[in-house]
Amino acid sequence: MIWEASCHCGAVSVRLAKAPEELAECNCSLCFSHGILWAYYSPKDVVIEGPTRTYNRADRANPNSDLHFCANCGCSTHWSATEGLIERTGGAIDLMGVNMRLFAPARLHGLRLVFPDGRGWSGEGAWEYARDAGVMRS
Ligand SMILES: [Zn+2]
Repeated sequence: MIWEASCHCGAVSVRLAKAPEELAECNCSLCFSHGILWAYYSPKDVVIEGPTRTYNRADRANPNSDLHFCANCGCSTHWSATEGLIERTGGAIDLMGVNMRLFAPARLHGLRLVFPDGRGWSGEGAWEYARDAGVMRS
């Protein structure tokens, strides 16, 4: 099965080498306000094509991620590690997030759904979960 999607206008496409292991609904102010549903991947398993603009949290001194969105329709597409995070991890960071809301709901139905407590997370180390895992219902 091919995991391929695009933003609303089609300018930015996303291709995944494999199915997501789980979906993450983070409650931090940035993810929550964008209504994002993440799947986490190694960047080597993701191909993004098309122009994006980026934003990172203005309320953090050392933001970890650049949030990418389509410069035309505004859909959030993915996050990537900031230069700062790459530096802080000595280049060891091998993680990015893909906004799974670009995919059709039927594709996501039945996947494990977790709820990271991004709102309560310091920005370093492991995060807690705001509530028990569930199953995605489309
Ligand atoms: Zn677009």
